[in-house]
Amino acid sequence: MPLLTIGLDRLVLFYRTPAEMIERLMTHSSPEQNPELPVTQTPPSIAVVGGGVTGLVALREIRQRNPQAKVRLFESSSRVGGVLQTTRNDSWLVEHSADMMATSPREGWALCEALGLAEEMLPTNPTHRGAVVYRNGKLYPVPDGFSLMAPSSVIPLLKSSLLSWPGKLRLACERWVRPRSDSRDESFESFARRRCGEEAYQYLVQPLVSGIYTADPAKLSMQATALARFVKMEQTYGSLTRGMLQGEGKKPSADKQANGARYSMFVAPRLGMQQLVDRLADEAGREHIRTETPLKALRKEPDQDQWELDDGRQVERFDRVVLATSAPQAARLLAEVDESLSTEIGRIEHASSAVVALAFPKPNRNPGVFGLVVPDAEKRHMIAASFGSNKFSGRAPDGGLLVRVFLGGALNEAITHESDDVLVETAVRELREIADVTGTLAFSQVIRWQKTMPQYHVDHLKKLEVIQSRLDALPGLVVAGNAFRGVGIPDCVRAGRHAAEQICT
Ligand SMILES: Cc1cc2nc3c(=O)[nH]c(=O)nc-3n(C[C@H](O)[C@H](O)[C@H](O)COP(=O)(O)OP(=O)(O)OC[C@H]3O[C@@H](n4cnc5c(N)ncnc54)[C@H](O)[C@@H]3O)c2cc1C
Repeated sequence: MPLLTIGLDRLVLFYRTPAEMIERLMTHSSPEQNPELPVTQTPPSIAVVGGGVTGLVALREIRQRNPQAKVRLFESSSRVGGVLQTTRNDSWLVEHSADMMATSPREGWALCEALGLAEEMLPTNPTHRGAVVYRNGKLYPVPDGFSLMAPSSVIPLLKSSLLSWPGKLRLACERWVRPRSDSRDESFESFARRRCGEEAYQYLVQPLVSGIYTADPAKLSMQATALARFVKMEQTYGSLTRGMLQGEGKKPSADKQANGARYSMFVAPRLGMQQLVDRLADEAGREHIRTETPLKALRKEPDQDQWELDDGRQVERFDRVVLATSAPQAARLLAEVDESLSTEIGRIEHASSAVVALAFPKPNRNPGVFGLVVPDAEKRHMIAASFGSNKFSGRAPDGGLLVRVFLGGALNEAITHESDDVLVETAVRELREIADVTGTLAFSQVIRWQKTMPQYHVDHLKKLEVIQSRLDALPGLVVAGNAFRGVGIPDCVRAGRHAAEQICT
């Protein structure tokens, strides 16, 4: 009777003694040579294309789910992390893109916990929470309890001088605006104008939302973005005001003091987003990552089981592939696989923006808020400014002010092609004119994001359905990333996990 069990995956053999086992395995090393050896199922080979947070999470999860799999991540640039990157300049800490992460949905926070980073996550600074809106030469606080589109309390709104009395009264009447019966997707501009009135839309709602999505409000989808919660409020409570007062606003997590965003829900790694990227790449397994390898094409002949990944120098074959790049890149890679799929993914547009970081060691003043937003109606280049040193500790030396000015976006992409000097000059000038912030700069830094911000236009969810139906006919291929089901870091973490789950089943 076989007595010994050895734990090789899916290969369980029984021998009378260890010596017998060694002798038998040494002399008969393959199923053909040894009829007693069962034909083993080779572990799958899996490629992940794109080393942003989505691809890294997918790599980590695939390796956890299937430790035997041969997994390789291909990244075109010299580093992983994608848009997430942090630069240290003495005591200044500059984020290139995201500077904070929401703790809801849970996936982002759960990842930090799993990576042992929970203790390293900083809460936002309670003393400077809040945002201001620029209008006609002045800055006005966003009324307390106003959450992107909906007031949870009418009194602060009525007290605010950001809007004229007719504008405030129109917004206060939002609760009596008849809900839309049409269940089709709607643009953010149409929804917000309809519910909040023209003035509140132009000077409150549009700048707050555009500061997040850098999108064209006339095209931005309500249903495919986090704004869907307002559609649901309209459907459930008949109005956003009632939704806030009866439902959402009563949730214990809601941050009643803050305005504009619920800032208590945001966190950031002590050493910046790079800390998250580094820990994630370590955990995912750096030996499985190949940087400076831009994939040029993906192919699969109908009679082949494997996918061919072509980086222009060599072609490698994998059983399964996760594409975690931007939509334009995914569309390009899929051109030879499925033209319709490629076209459909290519229809997801991406906008460009520029971040100008300005470090003031001794500013003339500190606006004392996390951020300021500028309505499109003001015809400025600046979409928003984020005061990083007010948000989190350890971003600037004592007394210093770190500002990131956001330029460009879907409605003003041309500016991102200007020289660094022009961008810095524009950011400094508008910051002075808008927020009266001046001072000698310790340094400035321009970070350009060309075609990196996906635009979820009206009917984005329908596009996703078409894309999924094409993908269903291509087993072994999964497409993930911020172009599809959410742009926030937690959404990308969820997308990476979901991609791994799909590819491993
Ligand atoms: C300016 C800015 C500010 C933001 N602020 C916030 C914020 O405060 N909070 C928040 O939660 N989110 C924020 N976001 C959004 C969030 O950071 C991103 O949506 C998310 O990090 C995207 O991750 P990703 O992996 O899907 O894509 P990316 O980070 O874009 O990664 C894709 C990767 O694929 C690689 N790649 C592309 N083509 C190929 C190829 N052919 N071969 C190999 N590799 C390829 C790219 O080099 C890149 O590394 C911000 C984004 C920007 C741009």
